[in-house]
Amino acid sequence: MSISTQLHSVRHAIAESCHAAGRDPASVVLLAVSKTFGADAVIEAADAGQVAFGENYLQEAVNKLAEVHKLRPDLSLEWHFIGPIQSNKTRPIAENFSWVHAVDREKIAQRLSEQRPEHLPPLNICLQVNVSGEDSKSGVSPEELPALAQAVARLPNIHLRGLMAIPEPETDPARQRAPFALLRELQKNLAEMGIPTDTLSMGMSGDMPAAIAEGATMVRIGTAVFGKRDYAN
Ligand SMILES: *Cc1c(COP(=O)(O)O)cnc(C)c1O
Repeated sequence: MSISTQLHSVRHAIAESCHAAGRDPASVVLLAVSKTFGADAVIEAADAGQVAFGENYLQEAVNKLAEVHKLRPDLSLEWHFIGPIQSNKTRPIAENFSWVHAVDREKIAQRLSEQRPEHLPPLNICLQVNVSGEDSKSGVSPEELPALAQAVARLPNIHLRGLMAIPEPETDPARQRAPFALLRELQKNLAEMGIPTDTLSMGMSGDMPAAIAEGATMVRIGTAVFGKRDYAN
C-alpha cells in the first residue's frame, strides 16, 4: 500500500477512536514517525497532507531534514525529536527541531534553552514520564515530575507543552489504558500546581485507540504510516 493510502487509513482510525471516546478528531495531532525511512518517504507523506514528522536518531534526522529541504524547499514541515537525548548532543536538536518529546532531566532542558537560536520561537517540550515503573526505562518518575516541570517551565527559550510516555508493550487493549490514564492524571496534577499544559504525547501504532480513549492529543505513528522498519540500513 502507498504511504498516502496508509496515511488516510490512520487518519480514519484516529477519527473512529475519537468518536468512540466522544472527542473531536481535530483534538488529536498525528505525528508521522519517519525514522529509518528516507527523504522520499517524508516527501510522499507531505504531499498527502502530513505536516508533523517525528525522528529518533539525531544524525539520521539532521541529514534527512537537509535532504528534504534541498529537494523540496516549498514544503514547510514541523520536525519533532522523539528519541533519547545525550547531553552533549543537544545543540543540533535545539537548532533543527520545533518539538522535543523525551526530556527527562533538567540539565538537558537547560542546555536546549541556552542553545535555542534567537531567531526561532521557543522550543516546545514534553517531559517523558516513566509510567511503567521499570528501573531500566527512561523517563522521570511520577514522584520527581513536579519538581522537574517547575524547573523546565521557568526556562526562557522553552515552552513546556506537556507529557510524553512510552509504556511497556502490552497487546491487551483493556490493559493498555492504565499507563495512559496515569499520564493524564499527572498532567491534571501539574495544572492544579499552576503548571497548565496542552499536550499528551502518547499512543503508537499498537496502542493508539487506548491512548485516544485516555486523552492523547498527539499520537506518534510510524509503522502504520510507513510500513515495517528495516534496521539493517
Ligand atoms: C518508533 C517510535 C514510535 C512509532 O512506533 P510505531 O509502533 O512504529 O508506530 C513512536 N514513538 C517513539 C518514541 C518511537 O521511538
